[in-house]
Amino acid sequence: MDGSLVVVSGPSGSGKSSLCRRVCSQFDFASLSISTTTRPKREGEKDGEDYFFITPDEFKRLIDKGEFLEWAEVHGNYYGTSKTWVEKTLRSGKTVIFDIDVQGQAAVVRLFPRETTTVFVTTPSLTVLRERLSVRGTDSETVIIKRLQNALDEMRCIDQYDYLLINDQFDQSVKVLESIVIVSLYKRHKVSLGDFIDHWQH
Ligand code: 5GP
Repeated sequence: MDGSLVVVSGPSGSGKSSLCRRVCSQFDFASLSISTTTRPKREGEKDGEDYFFITPDEFKRLIDKGEFLEWAEVHGNYYGTSKTWVEKTLRSGKTVIFDIDVQGQAAVVRLFPRETTTVFVTTPSLTVLRERLSVRGTDSETVIIKRLQNALDEMRCIDQYDYLLINDQFDQSVKVLESIVIVSLYKRHKVSLGDFIDHWQH
């Protein structure tokens, strides 16, 4: 069966990156799209594993070369998805999981409407989001304030998504996201019905 595209978005601190990584590690057929960014590396992050970290000038060069399937400015930094890698992975029949923002989601849906399933992950409340961002300790107070301000704008886009996952209990959320990834493979729109019925008759 051909793969699918699963886009996961949500406020910073909602836990979506950890969820995506855990679910990807459970399925041989799924790969996480590693984005390129101009954001400074956080402590513990590795180049090529968490992101490809590059300078704004290098990022502009990649935009000019048409290397990105989509790119966006998020919280004042640039983030982009590699076009070549995604197309190659999808052609090989694998499922690609994207941890990208609302703008990226809109672009992927526009490019691959039949193959894409979208999931919005958030916390049970703004208070929980604030606590998680503070406890994480990876961002300065100024960055946290900016991310909290952006969170409400992101929440207003929930109606663009197929699924809403309130990440209260991590293990339970992993199970839900795993189920969504499996169900994404069975989207009827992924299949060209004419071809399928022709093939089915033989
Ligand atoms: P962070 O800096 O916390 O790793 O990510 C900030 C935001 O950028 C998150 O919402 C994340 O999903 C989003 N993001 C990461 N990579 C990409 C990408 O390639 N494209 C877009 N549009 N957003 C991205």
